[in-house]
Amino acid sequence: MFPGADEYSVDLRVNEAAVDELLSVGPADVTAAAELTFARNVFIPLTTACRYTCTYCTYYDVPGEATLLSPSEVRKICDRGADAGCTEALFTFGDDPDDRYTAVHDQLAEWGHDSIHSYLREACEIALDAGLLPHANPGDQTREQMAQVADLNASMGVMLETTADLQAHGGPRGKSPGQRLHTIRTAGELAVPFTTGILVGIGETRRDRAESLLAIRDLHERYGHIQEVIVQPVSPNERWKEPGPALETLRETTAMARHCLPETVSVQSPPNLAPVRDLLDCGVDDLGGVSPVTDDHVNPDYAWPALRELESIAAEAGVPLSERLPVYERFLTEPGWVSERVHKAIDADTEAGARYRAVLAD
Ligand code: SF4
Repeated sequence: MFPGADEYSVDLRVNEAAVDELLSVGPADVTAAAELTFARNVFIPLTTACRYTCTYCTYYDVPGEATLLSPSEVRKICDRGADAGCTEALFTFGDDPDDRYTAVHDQLAEWGHDSIHSYLREACEIALDAGLLPHANPGDQTREQMAQVADLNASMGVMLETTADLQAHGGPRGKSPGQRLHTIRTAGELAVPFTTGILVGIGETRRDRAESLLAIRDLHERYGHIQEVIVQPVSPNERWKEPGPALETLRETTAMARHCLPETVSVQSPPNLAPVRDLLDCGVDDLGGVSPVTDDHVNPDYAWPALRELESIAAEAGVPLSERLPVYERFLTEPGWVSERVHKAIDADTEAGARYRAVLAD
């Protein structure tokens, strides 16, 4: 059983034989992808308030310092993104701000919202209106919270990071692997196309990484909802002084991800954080969301590479690079995944609709 799984009624178990088998996989056991994809997005850090204090994270701000973007600020970022040809409004959060964040709750109340998810719904409406498809990554969510915003999102996400109980997540406000698994399972139950991933180098073992990837696979086998799995190295920053993982560790982990996930689930490597060129033969097929407009607010020290850099990565690998939407195409063609509201935005006879359809035709 995974730590916290009981508390969140997550009925997943570690299959030791499958873990052993996955641990024997290396780069030589997988093949390079025939194509690389990316999405063009704007990064919208809706709030930096977070109930947790992960020791490698520079995203969260303590109570009194946390920011909350106003509706007009959200609109401004979205307009810039749409003008720059983006298709995705990536909403990032800390986890559900707790009672210590009185200023955030007071501001939300002033704007007529009793929760951050109520406000996220408004922010998603703003994004759709501005001509972007929302992809919200609001941390752990209850079923009610996710259901409150799912119909306005093309897809959603949360990093599993790891199924292990680690010091990096420790302390009085440590986040729980069981809760993360519960959020990913909830997305499956609600038929939300979903992005997740693992974080490499935060104190987990090889075995933990294999168990984490297999847990994602097991949930995907039940619901079919995982669209991509990110293999992300932790990055040194002002709160995390340890070096990032060795290249060989990233190569092995990327290959394990490619080997254990079905072909329809992309393996993503973020080019501003990982040495993507050295990972392509390990099965990376997606370069994630790349913003021509905004910074990576989760990793502000690591600038996004220019789109030309992505083209150069693909050219060196000898494969085509194509743009994708924040929701993978199969979820648009199979019924039951994406809401009528999002379908209507894509089919609309508007500049934004034409932009979405041009990407689908890419
Ligand atoms: S990693 Fe996520 S959950 Fe952890 S402190 Fe940062 S924002 Fe919060």
